[in-house]
Amino acid sequence: MNLFDSHCHLTAGAFEQDLEPVLARARAEGVTELVTIASDLDDAARALGLARETDGLWSSAGLHPHEADHFDDSTIAGLRRLAAEPEVVAIGEAGLDFHYDNAPRERQLECFEAQLSLAAELDLPIVVHSRDADAETAALVRDATGARGVLHCFTGGPELLETGLDAGWMVSFSGIVSFRRFDGADLVRRVPDDRLLLETDSPYLAPVPNRGRRNEPSFLPLTCAAVAGIRDQALETIADVTRRNARAFYGLD
Ligand SMILES: [Zn+2]
Repeated sequence: MNLFDSHCHLTAGAFEQDLEPVLARARAEGVTELVTIASDLDDAARALGLARETDGLWSSAGLHPHEADHFDDSTIAGLRRLAAEPEVVAIGEAGLDFHYDNAPRERQLECFEAQLSLAAELDLPIVVHSRDADAETAALVRDATGARGVLHCFTGGPELLETGLDAGWMVSFSGIVSFRRFDGADLVRRVPDDRLLLETDSPYLAPVPNRGRRNEPSFLPLTCAAVAGIRDQALETIADVTRRNARAFYGLD
C-alpha cells in the first residue's frame, strides 16, 4: 500500500538534524511520494533544492498568510521564476489566517488574490490555508475562475466545503481527524472520493497516538486509517484514491 503525503514542511527547522531517517521511515511505511510546501520565497528555494535531490519529492512556491506583510512587487516575479522549475508543482501555501492575524488582513487578502491569479495564469494548482476566514476564503474561491486548488488541512464549515467542491477544488485532511474532539466527521464524509487528499502537515498536527510529538510523513497511515474509519471505507481504498488524486492534482501523471 502506497501513500502520498500531499502537504508537509520538510524544510522546517524541526527536520534539520535528521531528514534522511525521517524520509527512510516514511518509505518504510509506504509513504513514497510527498510534496514539501513552502511558506516564503527563501523557503521555496530550499524546498526546490530538496526536491531536486530526493526521489518522490516535489515542492511548492508561495507566500503563507503569516508572511503576507512581506508581499511586495518582487514577490510574484520571484514565485514565477521558481514555478518555472519542473520540480515545483504548485503555488502556495497561500490563503487567509484570521485566527493568528500575524499579518494585517488587507495584506493577507492582497497576497492571496495575487497568488490565485498567478496559479490560474501558470495553470498550476494552489494550496490554500484558511483559518477562521471561511466567508472570505469562500468568496475568493468562488471568484477565482481558472484557479484550481486544495483546501488544505480542512477545518472549516459546510459552506466553505460546498463552495470548494462546487468550484471543483480538492479537500485535504490532516491528523486533526484523529483527535478525540474532532467534530467534522460529517464533512469528511461529504467529500467525494475523487476530491479527497491526505496530508500530514508535518512537523505540525501529529495524529493520535502521536499527538503532541513532532509529526512526520511516516505517520500518514494513522490519518489514512482515521479517514477510512470515518467514511466507512477500506484503508486500501483511501490510500489508493488519495494517491491517485494527488498525482493528478499536482500534474505528475
Ligand atoms: Zn502547511
